[in-house]
Amino acid sequence: MNKKTQFGKLRIEGENPVNPAPGVWMMPGFGNTGVVETDEGLVLVDMPVQSYAERTMGMLRQKLKDPVHTVFLTHGHLDHAFHLDPLFNEAKRNGTSPPRVIAQRNILKRFQKYRMLSQFHEHINRIQFNIPEGEKAFTLPERNPDIIFDQTISVRVGGIDFHAFHGLGETDDHLWIWVPEKKSVFAGDFVIWSFPNVGNLFKVQRYTLEWAETLEAVVAREPEILIPGHGPVIKGHEKIREVCLKFSTALRYLHDEVIKRLNKGMWYEDIVHDISLPDHMLDNEFLAPRYGCPTFMVHGILRQYTGWYDGNPSNLLPPKKTDIFSEVVALVEKDRIMEHARQIKEEGRYAMALQFIDMVLAAQLDAKEEQEMHLLRGELLDILGHNEKSFITKSIYYRARDRAMEAAKS
Ligand SMILES: [Zn+2]
Repeated sequence: MNKKTQFGKLRIEGENPVNPAPGVWMMPGFGNTGVVETDEGLVLVDMPVQSYAERTMGMLRQKLKDPVHTVFLTHGHLDHAFHLDPLFNEAKRNGTSPPRVIAQRNILKRFQKYRMLSQFHEHINRIQFNIPEGEKAFTLPERNPDIIFDQTISVRVGGIDFHAFHGLGETDDHLWIWVPEKKSVFAGDFVIWSFPNVGNLFKVQRYTLEWAETLEAVVAREPEILIPGHGPVIKGHEKIREVCLKFSTALRYLHDEVIKRLNKGMWYEDIVHDISLPDHMLDNEFLAPRYGCPTFMVHGILRQYTGWYDGNPSNLLPPKKTDIFSEVVALVEKDRIMEHARQIKEEGRYAMALQFIDMVLAAQLDAKEEQEMHLLRGELLDILGHNEKSFITKSIYYRARDRAMEAAKS
């Protein structure tokens, strides 16, 4: 596969510009760029990751010649808001006015954070997207927006109104855009053709209930076209309604189930193990956990409303886990633990077997034992990755599998 059609190991669907209605376009990429033609120039929504930015420009110019007048940034993630240089370079080359860039106020703090923590984000993105060494995993925003707003902003360009609304969801700086003349919504990552990635395990707080509220606000406009942050265009108000309400129903369900249990006095671990999404709510076309997953969302909701204490005072100021493990191994004998790990792998209890391998790897093993445990760990991670649907979960398991296999060889 062409490297340009993936980001890390994440495949991108769609190679050609999509024109769902007169004057409305979507340039598919990682992520998508929305376009509206107006008499004063083009209005764009988002630009993709750096490795896609020129590709998106090429697609745009294949079809449309007018200068870019305005760019909305749906939120301050690298796959939507970082790489605007191609647009500004083009304006400079052509001697036209540079586009103005509009975003929600919180994007400024977000950009500041990324500049402060760029190496950390390089590190975690490499794991989240399983990006090979040598390929850049994180870049920095090329510029701050020119116009910021708090709750809503309406602008008129070439006789067409654009209404942007702030909503909490994947980020705290998210917005969505309603263009009544075109009956079109540009939803950013409020809609991504996957189970919403609320509980991203590497990233700061995301917002479940507020995400659902935004989707319901989108439905209330009765749009005929929805351009998502990732994945194909959704057409027809009935389909859009169905998709958005499927999302919001699942979000509200998990949110309310967590709240119920918190109010009963249940603690974190018990809540995580007690909640799952009913089968009838899982919809393979739109809600499959291809990227985010329901369990991670439960973590995200708990994180939004609670602190880190798990209810057990043993874990309040505990010793290091590896120190506990090595004492247990010394007590029980490592051979028995290794044998148990092998046995429960055969029983198909892969996640449990991993725990026992972690335990035994914290102890002093001879070279042959250590090699065998790394190999077994690699096999378990491979099976777990294979069994999971979520891209992020797979990335983590497969990356760790490769490391374990390397460790087994050395
Ligand atoms: Zn995105």
